[in-house]
Amino acid sequence: MSAVPSTPATPESVSLVGLDRPALAAALGAMGFPADGLRMRVAQLWHWLYMRGAGEFAAMTTLSKEMRARLEAHASLARPEIAAERISDDGTRKWLLKLADGALVETVYIPEEARGTLCISSQVGCTLTCRFCHTGTQGLVRNLTAGEILGQVLLAKDRLGDWPAPGAGKDARAITNVVLMGMGEPLYNFDNVRDAMLIAADGEGIGLGKRRITLSTAGVVPMIARAGAELGSALAISLHAVKDELRDALVPLNKKYPIAELLAAVRAYPVLSNARRVTFEYVMLKGVNDSDADARALVKLIAGIPAKINLIPFNPWPGSPYECSDRGRIEAFAEIVNRAGYASPVRTPRGRDILAACGQLKSESKKVRASERRRAEA
Ligand code: SAH
Repeated sequence: MSAVPSTPATPESVSLVGLDRPALAAALGAMGFPADGLRMRVAQLWHWLYMRGAGEFAAMTTLSKEMRARLEAHASLARPEIAAERISDDGTRKWLLKLADGALVETVYIPEEARGTLCISSQVGCTLTCRFCHTGTQGLVRNLTAGEILGQVLLAKDRLGDWPAPGAGKDARAITNVVLMGMGEPLYNFDNVRDAMLIAADGEGIGLGKRRITLSTAGVVPMIARAGAELGSALAISLHAVKDELRDALVPLNKKYPIAELLAAVRAYPVLSNARRVTFEYVMLKGVNDSDADARALVKLIAGIPAKINLIPFNPWPGSPYECSDRGRIEAFAEIVNRAGYASPVRTPRGRDILAACGQLKSESKKVRASERRRAEA
């Protein structure tokens, strides 16, 4: 379905998408390119892959014919395949992507007036079973590779025509921000998320910059410091409750890492300032976590943390056990948070009509038991 041609993967070929520069150099070395000159070849490839968005080696006209042929024989640039594309009435786009092994994930593009946000997945499914989240009902199928995480960005840029024309300056891009708020828990697949996002941030390519990348976590406390040190993106925390008892029920991970530990890790996150605030996400569940007392407890809890509170109207999905708080309730809650000095934007639900809104993503990929797989292969 993708209009952009891409060099396909074959069983023997190594995928170059998602490799950092040293890994790219090693891959070229393994293909027989001499050590002398590897740096320059890597720089050229990098430019084609991440500045120009080339999906096939044939397009890389500054490389020698010989180099292109060798790459063609040993390497691939394959993007995930688009299994379905849906466009919401509000312009939100959702892609269902099929990976090389047939696993399915979703990626969502949300255009706004001054920016365009790409919401990407880090896992097929999720292990966390948050009570209000559709993805949580799917279970975990597997982690995405760095290439599959970055591949979502490349593919969205292909589809949106978002690669700069040759020689063009840094003109306005369709994708200005990337959020790891799709399927999965990014801190349970951190190495691959880090590798992919460092490439997306890199100024000699896609050039998003670390501040325009937001990693959202349900609170994998021991990984938060590493995320700060090794990636340094913006941070979002899916808080959703101010007392452990309720948070245990909504976000079962809280039983392992309770609120006090989570907030201590947030306070220690590097370079938080008024210009670089942490985001607390708070899903508004009618009669569950949306009282004035909850709002007051929330501002007390996060006192002193440079933060904004993102209030997310609950997005229902088939069989979901909650309702969204009423508009007036959300506004009253926002008002209390706001008066305490925190920006409290209410997230406008986008793409609800195509089940592309927060917490609505779910693919049909199922965890196959080893015994079933053996039976299917027999
Ligand atoms: N696992 C990470 C990344 C998922 S982000 C995390 O938990 O942060 C997806 C965001 O949407 C999270 O803040 C999540 O709590 C929220 N969310 C999940 N289900 C939702 C729903 N049905 N309605 C609104 N927001 C939801």
